[in-house]
Parts: sequence; C-alpha cells; structure tokens
Amino acid sequence: MATMRAVQVVRSKGPLELTERAIPEPGAGAVRIRVQACGVCHSDSVTKEGLFPNIAYPRVPGHEIIGILDKAGAGVLGWSAGQRVGVGWHGGNCGYCDACRRGDAFACDTETLVTGITSDGGYADYMIAPASALARVPDELGSVEAAPLMCAGITTFNALRNSGACPGETVAVLGIGGLGHLGVQYAAKLGFNTVAIARGHDKAPLARELGAHHYIDSRAEDPAAALQRLGGAKVILATATSGAAMSAVQGGLAPRGTLMIIGVPEAALAIDPLSLILGSRSVKGWYSGTSIDSQQTLAFSALTGVRPMIETYPLDRAAEAYDRMMSGDARFRVVLTTGI
Ligand SMILES: [Zn+2]
Ligand SMILES: [Zn+2]
Repeated sequence: MATMRAVQVVRSKGPLELTERAIPEPGAGAVRIRVQACGVCHSDSVTKEGLFPNIAYPRVPGHEIIGILDKAGAGVLGWSAGQRVGVGWHGGNCGYCDACRRGDAFACDTETLVTGITSDGGYADYMIAPASALARVPDELGSVEAAPLMCAGITTFNALRNSGACPGETVAVLGIGGLGHLGVQYAAKLGFNTVAIARGHDKAPLARELGAHHYIDSRAEDPAAALQRLGGAKVILATATSGAAMSAVQGGLAPRGTLMIIGVPEAALAIDPLSLILGSRSVKGWYSGTSIDSQQTLAFSALTGVRPMIETYPLDRAAEAYDRMMSGDARFRVVLTTGI
C-alpha cells in the first residue's frame, strides 16, 4: 500500500501530529491533488480547537492549497491530470440547489463544505477535493507564493472588488497583518486612494511599500477624524481582530460608505445607528469566495504583481509553523512545503 505523510488533529484541542496514511483515492466528481504548498491560516484553529460543529476527527487542516492534479475520479469534466490547481476555504458546492442555481454557490443549500474542516485539507502530501472546488493557477505564480492567495488573498481581493468603491475613491484597510498586507496591495492595484490604518508608526514605511497613499497611526490620532480629513472613506476593509478598533473607525466613513468586515473580532463591535441612518452608511460582511473567485484572485495577482510576504516551513514542522502563525509574529503568512 502506497502511503503519504499527513499532519492531523486527533481530537478537539489536540496537538498537530505527523502521521503516515494510505494515499486516498478520489471518488466520483472529485480529484486527487499532489500538494506542493499549503498556507497556514488563523482559521486552521477552527479544526484544531473544534470550533465548528461535528468535526469528524482525525482531521487534516489546511485550506490554502496549491498542487498538481494527480488523478481525476469518475465523471470529472474539464480537469485532467498534470494541471496545477488551487483549493481554498470553499470546499465545493452541489451545482443543483436553489442557491447554486442563483449564482450563490458560496451559500450552497445541500451541504456546507469547508476544506480542512468537513474534509481533510492540505497539511499532507496528497488530498482529495471536489472538482467544483478547483481553481486554475497561472504559470507566472510560484506554488509557494500562490498558496496564501487561496484564503488571505481571495478574502481581501473579493471583498474589495465587491465593495462598491470605484477607482479613485478612498478605501481604508484597517490592520496590516496577514490579511491587511494583501488588502493594501489589492486596494492600490485596483486604483483606490489607499489608506492603511495600524497601531504605531513602525508599519508606515511598509504600508507605503505595499502601495498605500496614506498611513494613519491609530495610536497617535483618532483614525475616524483622520479619515474625515481625507474626505471620508467609501469603504473601510476591517481585517483586524479587534472589535474596539473596528468600532473606532466607523466615524471615518463617507456618506454611503461601507464598513466591510472580513476579520472576526474577539468581542462584539459597537455600531452607531445614527451615523448609519444619517449617512446611508452600512456595515456588512463578505464571504471569501468560491473557486472562480480564487481563480480570478490568482489571475489578478499574476497580472499586477500582488504577492504575499511569507515564511516557509517543511510539512514535517507543521506544528511549529502553526505556533508561529498563532503567535502573530510571522511576517506575514506561513506556508508549508512538501518538497515537490
Ligand atoms: Zn483561511
Ligand atoms: Zn448547491
């Protein structure tokens, strides 16, 4: 029996364990991927800490996968062995339910499929994915640098391009971390007057390098007032995980402005209803996206030069890589490599 390496969580709150498993066979409608690289995302803690209902352990985390399509199962159309593919958080969709037929595949009614949570993910040499979860990877992108774009990339790019902001309008990105360092690059490349907001002044030079036209140090000044001095933001992309930081920037929205929430705050955020009403402002969230959104994220990144800043670890050191990511000290994404 041919075997592979996999890094699994055996129980909720258990450690990440390197193990040997049989190489899985793809069922109907699914493919097997020989994983080249898999990003380590904060949301992998959902699998490790059991934060999703009814996770079937042991489970292999990982939803920022780039690899080579190794074998197609029965009935897979349009994909063949040897193609380089990506898989993200969206773990596929049925294609026949009302939501899918409406074009809302992210909200598929049949089953909620999440890579690395409802099925085994990319902390392994091989993995299985439904064909509906696959994105094509442009030749210009290396597999290791493309991996974080499958979650951190799509989450920021897809939210920004669906935010309603037009080129030339002011868009602020709150937080310069794993998501924010990509959000600033995408905002600049999409043609927005890009404002980066972070605590302290040490991230100002980096924000400028990433393409920000303005930098607001939220420790030194009130970020809402600073945004209003710039004419108000059409969109504020909230990537930070602080509810207080999100609440503090709301006052910086222009009329009809939108606070787009893509980071999960540890505490509820306070909303000012009067400001929403008087300025026709809104607060909304955005689902990262489906496989076609991933594919367009990769294509846009190849086209414009948007790249994640990464630290790499070999698959065998996944536990160390995970701890590094959770520490918040990584600059800015951590990627596991299998050596192929
Ligand atoms: Zn993620
Ligand atoms: Zn469906």
